[in-house]
Amino acid sequence: MQTTDFFLRSLSWLLLAGGLALLLSCQSGEPRKQQFALVIHGGAGTILKKNMSAEQEQAYREKLTEALQAGYDILAKGGSSLDAITAAIQIMEDSPLFNAGKGAVFTHDGTNELDASIMDGATRNSGAVAGVRHIKNPITLARLVMEKSVHVMMAGQGAEAFARANDVEFVDPDYFYTERRWQQLQTALEKEKNQAQIPNDELIPHDFKFGTVGAAALDKQGNLAAGTSTGGMTNKKFGRIGDSPIIGAGTYADNATCAVSATGHGEYFIRSVVAHDIAAQMAYAGKSLQAAADDVVMHKLKEFGGSGGIIAVDKWGNIAMPFNTEGMYRGYVGEDGKIVVKIYRE
Ligand code: ASP
Repeated sequence: MQTTDFFLRSLSWLLLAGGLALLLSCQSGEPRKQQFALVIHGGAGTILKKNMSAEQEQAYREKLTEALQAGYDILAKGGSSLDAITAAIQIMEDSPLFNAGKGAVFTHDGTNELDASIMDGATRNSGAVAGVRHIKNPITLARLVMEKSVHVMMAGQGAEAFARANDVEFVDPDYFYTERRWQQLQTALEKEKNQAQIPNDELIPHDFKFGTVGAAALDKQGNLAAGTSTGGMTNKKFGRIGDSPIIGAGTYADNATCAVSATGHGEYFIRSVVAHDIAAQMAYAGKSLQAAADDVVMHKLKEFGGSGGIIAVDKWGNIAMPFNTEGMYRGYVGEDGKIVVKIYRE
């Protein structure tokens, strides 16, 4: 008799616990919208149709499509979100169109100093490099920092020594020379000479065409990842480092919420901890990805004076791409394989 009582009581507790678990899991959100998705950006800024030739526009569209296709091929075969974002970012780093890798902008001293970071949403492991000068694909090095070292961030010569020990591809500094970026530096230097009286902050060109690249993905295993790579800002000085290699500011990924990569005026993105704020609003306030991203980019950041945008994907496969500038090179692809690329405000 006692045994039956005990059995019945245990059973009802079990049922209650099961019901509670079910309720909690329902509350934790919608069912997965799609099994996998990839979203990328190629920088935000004063990108207006009237300033762009048909050929230029075509070149950007084609390169963004190529990057998305490469990531899609990996995800569709069941590959990891980390592999997908690495592949997409490498393609953009190898193109002179973007301010990352090959097309990196020049510092005040006429050098190129590259920053990148990557984050694995499953483990929250991350890797970042800052101020590297001879690395062809900084995103690859950031990933190695994450996977092959006990550190999160390495800078300058130390990062390059680590790269050498890990067989990373080096290039001569000349590799990063592009006429367009060199002319941008000359324009910035000229402007600075004429405006020596105005405060430092205003010397950063507000009409500057950013071109940082980034990617965020969800894979079939439900793992999120994000990465960002940049040459920083034209005419940057004194080893300036922006938000792109800073986990929580330019890049963030957590399987519990979302994966984010940012682009814009780095000083503001660092102080606003942009990427983490979006994840935090989802986690603590229960906001949707779109609502959290809009709040951070279109309200908080904008009121603060920070221009730029973000791309993000959440654990359900929803995508958000808000920006508060005229344009942002951006695109996404989901499990249907349909590649969408956009440049201007629409
Ligand atoms: N966020 C980058 C930086 O401040 C620039 C960019 O996104 O274009 O270094």
